[in-house]
Amino acid sequence: MRTFAFIAQDDDPDQWREWLTRDLGPIELFIHPNIPDRPIDYVLAFRPPIGSIAKLRGVKVVFSLGAGVDGLADDATIPAHLPIVRMMDDGLIEGMTEFVLHSVLSAHREADDFARLQRAHRWDHRDHKFARERTVGVLGLGKLGGAAARALRALKFQVLGWSRTPRQVEGVECFHGAAGLTAMLRRTEILVCLLPLTPETERILNASLFAQLPRGAYLINVGRGKQCAIDDLVAALDSGHLGGALLDVFPEEPLPAASPLWDHPKLRITPHIAAMVMPRSATRYVVEQIRAYEAGGKLVNLVDRGRGY
Ligand code: NAP
Repeated sequence: MRTFAFIAQDDDPDQWREWLTRDLGPIELFIHPNIPDRPIDYVLAFRPPIGSIAKLRGVKVVFSLGAGVDGLADDATIPAHLPIVRMMDDGLIEGMTEFVLHSVLSAHREADDFARLQRAHRWDHRDHKFARERTVGVLGLGKLGGAAARALRALKFQVLGWSRTPRQVEGVECFHGAAGLTAMLRRTEILVCLLPLTPETERILNASLFAQLPRGAYLINVGRGKQCAIDDLVAALDSGHLGGALLDVFPEEPLPAASPLWDHPKLRITPHIAAMVMPRSATRYVVEQIRAYEAGGKLVNLVDRGRGY
């Protein structure tokens, strides 16, 4: 019988056990920290405590229960030969695409402003731009950023995209590297961050980046919380340079109830729900990889530990 270790504080091990059992037959799933000293075949993990995987015996593959692998890629105690597969099931891509479309359309059609006007009982007619007249910049053109950029393009937005290495996405004007970022930001009215968290992307959303955006620009951070220098963001919102922001991710999660961010009039806050990994759709992805691996095939969406994502 296959053995699993479950090291993911915010995920529901019972759902994973139930869905894995449907596809694989009986399994043994042990929940951190109650993992016995015996061989473990597969680890399901999200932000596991440093060292918690290294001490397990016999592990064949680590599955990240998130698309992001912060906490896994940077845990130097995990043996270099151990494959880490990140989550990338269709549900995650669909969920993120929906969330980005919803957020960009809200910013584009000034939904926050109209909510304020409603509260003030004000009937304030005004012209609006068409999507084809609005420029959206997407930081990160990977699985999620690429899908979001294509979906925005399908709605006729002018879409710019930025990656580490040169990329091509049909209909999207692509930029890379430091010079590419500056060129892209100058034209970006709505900025979507879909970067992985690495030493290079930590606090990338800072005062200097905001200053390069046109006045009134809107930020949507659905990457990772530590990518945003929160004080710089609040200063840019308060000065009026940024028109508004949506944060789905935070340096500290859950966002403490006492945080002043909750009440900032120009901030929209969601509790890291842009794209949820749901066992009913994600187990299919994990099971396909387990079957391929056991048949001697290749694992996909492997993390490059050197690159950090
Ligand atoms: P991915 O496929 O690994 O793509 C990452 C993209 O970011 C690539 O285009 C990569 O460039 C680019 N990139 C990485 N480091 C860079 C740097 N230093 N400068 C410029 N570009 C850089 O990742 P993904 O699957 O699209 O996921 C992206 C992130 O979304 C995850 O890591 C996670 O942080 C976040 N996420 C959030 C939620 C949520 O609910 N809020 C859910 C899932 C994921 P190259 O193309 O050159 O490699």
